[in-house]
Amino acid sequence: MRYHNITKDDMLNGDGLRVVLWVSGCSHCCKECQNPITWDPNGGLLFDEEAKQEIFTELARDYISGITFSGGDPLYFGNRSDVSKLIQEIKERFPQKTIWMYTGFMWETIAALEIMKYVDVLVDGEFIVEKKNTKLHWRGSSNQRVIDVPASRVQGKMVLHCQ
Ligand code: SF4
Repeated sequence: MRYHNITKDDMLNGDGLRVVLWVSGCSHCCKECQNPITWDPNGGLLFDEEAKQEIFTELARDYISGITFSGGDPLYFGNRSDVSKLIQEIKERFPQKTIWMYTGFMWETIAALEIMKYVDVLVDGEFIVEKKNTKLHWRGSSNQRVIDVPASRVQGKMVLHCQ
């Protein structure tokens, strides 16, 4: 897996202060995507042990609520295996920290993925510029949903984390 950035003390991509991993690779090609540089899975930097330790150091801080996976798309097919392994390691080492994920895929098509066992909140769907709304919390266009993944899995239907 490759990535473009690790941002710290982020307040815009989930609850509280978070560390955000911006992965490389996305096949959705949303019109007016704000991050087209991240579409190329071969772009950016190799996600190596040093990058992983940088994330772990942040997650060890008391005031950090958790990690957000963004990009690019963490569920781009070439990223799924590595993201899944990383998430499992984070859940084992930092069970009290929350995991948010942004993806261009819709919940209904990815709900059954093993990786969803470890995600707390999923912001799903492609960015649709015609539905852009800057007043929305955590999402860029009104078609996207902020989903409570554990509740959705228990109830067998999509449950929103917030409107
Ligand atoms: S899913 Fe996200 S990163 Fe991918 S093209 Fe759409 S807005 Fe851009």
